[in-house]
Amino acid sequence: MAETQFDLIVLGGGTGGYVAAIRAAQLGLKTALVDKAKVGGTCLHQGCIPTKALLNTAEVLHTFKHAGDYGLVAQEVALDYPKAVARKNKVVDQLYRGVQFLLKKNKVSVFEGYGRLKGAQHVEVSAQDGSTTLLEAKDILIATGSVPRQLPNVPFDGQRVLSSDDVLSRADIPSSVVILGGGAIGVEFASMYNDFGSQVTIVEMLPHILPQDDEEVAEQLTKLLTRRGIKIYTSASFDPSSLKIDDNKIHADVVKADQSRVPVEGDVLLVAIGRKAVTENLGLEEVGVEIQRGFIVVDDHYRTNVPHVYAIGDVIGGYLLAHVAAHEGMIAVETIAGKNPELLNPHRIPRVTYSRPEVASVGLSEKEAKAQGYDVKVGIFPFRANGKSLILGEADGMVKLVADKKTDALLGAHIVGPHASDLINEMALAKFLEATAWEVAESVHAHPTVSEVLHEAALAVDGMAIHI
Ligand code: FAD
Repeated sequence: MAETQFDLIVLGGGTGGYVAAIRAAQLGLKTALVDKAKVGGTCLHQGCIPTKALLNTAEVLHTFKHAGDYGLVAQEVALDYPKAVARKNKVVDQLYRGVQFLLKKNKVSVFEGYGRLKGAQHVEVSAQDGSTTLLEAKDILIATGSVPRQLPNVPFDGQRVLSSDDVLSRADIPSSVVILGGGAIGVEFASMYNDFGSQVTIVEMLPHILPQDDEEVAEQLTKLLTRRGIKIYTSASFDPSSLKIDDNKIHADVVKADQSRVPVEGDVLLVAIGRKAVTENLGLEEVGVEIQRGFIVVDDHYRTNVPHVYAIGDVIGGYLLAHVAAHEGMIAVETIAGKNPELLNPHRIPRVTYSRPEVASVGLSEKEAKAQGYDVKVGIFPFRANGKSLILGEADGMVKLVADKKTDALLGAHIVGPHASDLINEMALAKFLEATAWEVAESVHAHPTVSEVLHEAALAVDGMAIHI
């Protein structure tokens, strides 16, 4: 008979849950992990990994199409989408096996089945074969994640009205797509579909796409995407009552800020308006776990209001990002194990959109810094003045650093351009070490590298950039 007594039960084996389970086991806690599906969760199976694998195919395709720019002759370059999907699946599968191996190596007991709290120290697991197991632990960590949010009265149908999950399980590329929501998920799919040859329209309610990013950076990306033929409506709402779905297309009206209406149509409608935390049918109400605006309420150590019950990841809201879920998971179990972990500071969390080019940021935007009362100085450096970017043939975009005029502290870094996803980690480290702009400018960067843009932008903060 399987062991049913544990120090910790982690409910949900996504990035947050499985990382927490491994860290707990490393700290000597006897740990169970419960998942109703495959461990790895959204990020591995319907999020970060599959999307980036397909975006990489899109990027390679784009590069091949411009082979002539590199002095190459490449004829008849075409997308074989089923093969791209097979490659994506292979990457996901390899990582899935990796996660399973790590859980086994760390002696985490994995239970496959639907988990529900039965009191603050028990979880009932219902397996697919109908059997149930009651697990007991000193502490429980809820990491049940999130699912795509639908438009009120317009349910996903998997055919014409799609969620990001639906898009990833489709075997074809629509010739045209209307994307509702200009956040990271919407923009990534827009970039990918455009590279694959679809007509793309984005509808965003707020004044700019990537509303969580610096305005100037988002505007740059808007220009670059528009130049590629993507239609972008901002400060515009989608009128669900105007939606008509026939055999081949969806048709609807977009209402602009001046109340004028523009008809949009596409083979499919991708609804990327946000995610809904998974809190229902978990036994949370019975146990008395507090939920506000759909998310579980926790303190800065991820304790809920119920003793012994913790929660992390998408289910608690904030930044819905895999690396955030993982860090929260580690902090929660270190707390459970009686350690004194470094708490997560939202200003140090890097955020990335993997469009072409990528967008990445950490810390405060210029507008946010000003709103918080900082007297700011800004350093901007364009990728076109960076040697390595020209060598790569990817010189669109810019870096913008925001610093405090008084102390020179680095407040925020914002990048739109090649390799932004990797560059931002240097700025996240700078934020973690509480670096000043001067310190970034003084640290020697190898030449020729794309990361020299950071060095130059830091110099530009005090008007001292060399190459512009
Ligand atoms: P999840 O990964 O959602 O895992 C929750 C797990 O709980 C699931 O495995 C589920 O099966 C299980 N579960 C739920 N209820 C129960 C139950 N009752 N019993 C048992 N098991 C249960 N983030 C990034 O940082 N970078 C990216 O590039 C990125 N790209 C994304 C692209 C897309 C299209 C999407 C949708 C998301 C993306 N994200 C990205 C976000 C990222 O996927 C999530 O932030 C992350 O997966 C959250 O981890 P989690 O552990 O909180 O939850």
